[in-house]
Amino acid sequence: MGRVIALANQKGGVGKTTTSINLGACLAKLGQKVLLIDADAQGNATSGLGIRKADIKADVYDVLVNEVPMTDVIIHTSRKNLDIVPATIQLSGAEIELTSQMAREKRLADAVVPIRDSYDYILIDCPPSLGMLTINAFTACDTILIPVQSEYYALEGLSQLLNTIQLVQKHFNPNLKIEGVLLTMLDARTNLGNEVVEEVKRFFKDKVYQTIIPRNVRLSEAPSHGMSIIDYDPSSRGAKEYMALAKEVLAAHGK
Ligand code: ADP
Ligand code: MG
Repeated sequence: MGRVIALANQKGGVGKTTTSINLGACLAKLGQKVLLIDADAQGNATSGLGIRKADIKADVYDVLVNEVPMTDVIIHTSRKNLDIVPATIQLSGAEIELTSQMAREKRLADAVVPIRDSYDYILIDCPPSLGMLTINAFTACDTILIPVQSEYYALEGLSQLLNTIQLVQKHFNPNLKIEGVLLTMLDARTNLGNEVVEEVKRFFKDKVYQTIIPRNVRLSEAPSHGMSIIDYDPSSRGAKEYMALAKEVLAAHGK
């Protein structure tokens, strides 16, 4: 049965989408069957993997609000073993529309059940908020991977995130755990970056991945070409570190 991992941090711009795309692509390259669910109305994971609006007939909104089966919405990407459930701007209505629906927190969890056996990993790219979409992701997943930007205020807001995780554990998903904490966008030339790394390690201890993603311009260029970093520039530092992360994730699961 596939492992479901939500990538979450209610702060925007910390590397959730970049990590979803590139961890997904690296796991796929390592022979894992991967589904990436784009749960952000910005649709950055969708466009970042080269899916155009014209390719999308239904999206994750239809799964959540109209109960369209996940299998009707999945699109194969150009990378072997990597599929996506796309998001479009239509998803921005879901937060409000779900509020009045039955079992609103469990919509995504229910939709994932029939496809779990078809994948080794299902990654959910969460939006930058702790609203109903993120609650759905936390209810649907086994674990949460938290990207943290290696910048001043890195830990700010994380207690709110941990509170939300506890609430979901209590009410909807008692087995929910933290998969790991990933430091992103490190500029190792600065003392500040290295201090933040130490601070995050003091707080999250052995939950922090050995792999740290450096600031790498190739990583920010790749999405506009609709490619993951291992397709856009496989020899870049960004590609090497995301591949190292994928191996670390697999090793943690005895693979
Ligand atoms: P989030 O999904 O958390 O909002 P993104 O993954 O979209 O964050 O990243 C925010 C911005 O930073 C994007 O423009 C992305 O291309 C860029 N970015 C992310 N990670 C890196 C990195 N390691 N080095 C350079 N730019 C990065
Ligand atoms: Mg994002």
